[in-house]
Amino acid sequence: MKLTIFVLIPIVLSIGIISAIQFSDAVEYSQICIDKIWIESTKGKIACVTPFTASALVERGWGTILTDDAFIEEPIEMSDQLPELTTENKLEVIPVANNISMLIGIDQSVEGNIGGNIGVSAGSDGLLIIDDGMEFALDDIKAQLFELKTCATCDDIEFLLNTHWHVDHVSNNAHFGEHDTIIIAQSNVRDLLSSPQEQKAFGMKFDAYPKEALPIITFDESVFLFFNDEKIQVTHLPNGHTNSDSIVYFTGSNVLHLGDHFFNGMFPFVDLEHGGSVEGLTNNVEKIINEYPENVQIIPGHGPLTNMEDLVDYHGMLIETTKIVQDQMNAGNTLEEIQDVGLPEKFQKWEGAWIDEATWILIVHTSLSLN
Ligand SMILES: [Zn+2]
Ligand SMILES: [Zn+2]
Repeated sequence: MKLTIFVLIPIVLSIGIISAIQFSDAVEYSQICIDKIWIESTKGKIACVTPFTASALVERGWGTILTDDAFIEEPIEMSDQLPELTTENKLEVIPVANNISMLIGIDQSVEGNIGGNIGVSAGSDGLLIIDDGMEFALDDIKAQLFELKTCATCDDIEFLLNTHWHVDHVSNNAHFGEHDTIIIAQSNVRDLLSSPQEQKAFGMKFDAYPKEALPIITFDESVFLFFNDEKIQVTHLPNGHTNSDSIVYFTGSNVLHLGDHFFNGMFPFVDLEHGGSVEGLTNNVEKIINEYPENVQIIPGHGPLTNMEDLVDYHGMLIETTKIVQDQMNAGNTLEEIQDVGLPEKFQKWEGAWIDEATWILIVHTSLSLN
């Protein structure tokens, strides 16, 4: 994914970006700038930067692109950048509890990602899945689901719950919808999928999804399903990762699927363009910690299967890093200065494939500035 959030507060962000770049005099630049772009500053120095940074620098006239393989001038169509499915990025099935499993991509890099983690309930009533990954992985997803299926007379997939509208969680909706799967989601998911959307943070545009991809049952606050001998509670968490998120609790199996409210072990992406906020996300995570059993098993939106202890750790990171950025803003420091200082070393372990430290500071700073 290519980050280009500069639409939000363009000038502040651009000023911030330029200070965070390590420019050098090196002339050998073709070998080591993987998945990034070489850019030459107006002073003749070069640096390896993300497409996000490159576009902001070019926009301000502060640099020129030396290599443009990954550079996005215009938002690209999703279909232009689908990876290939290989043995390295196929799915792994992780048993969670009772008849609940989790499908996770073996390759967790940005390029090979098959999408968010898929939750599965397989039993005498058939299959219920939570999220449905990326389109290129559909055959593998279906193969793994049918391995889990125990009901010979049931339809293929009875129910599909979408935790939110993001492409890595809903890409196979149309396929399942065409095959009579009942798709359920919070009302805002249907609204967002029904019309064209732009995700400037990743330089992407999405067409409206076809009718068969849309949830046919929606809810505002919560809904219960009674399936495979247990009560399944789906609850909307407002204005967290997006404005459309739900979490799913299997009450009998004591398993919670948190969608993208939880990037396990990583700084999360927060979709500020579609109603998300860092403060809302943090409050929602706190509610989850207070309301669900301490021994619950947690399927995160991204990252490995986990538990409440790791969620508490993640919540602590959200609180502490937000406070660091807020305190520095209160002291009159610019985004540039805050990124320059960076976060204390103990937070480095949260840098993941998606969001690095500078980008996390940018997201927090932007969220605090907007709210
Ligand atoms: Zn996701
Ligand atoms: Zn998401």
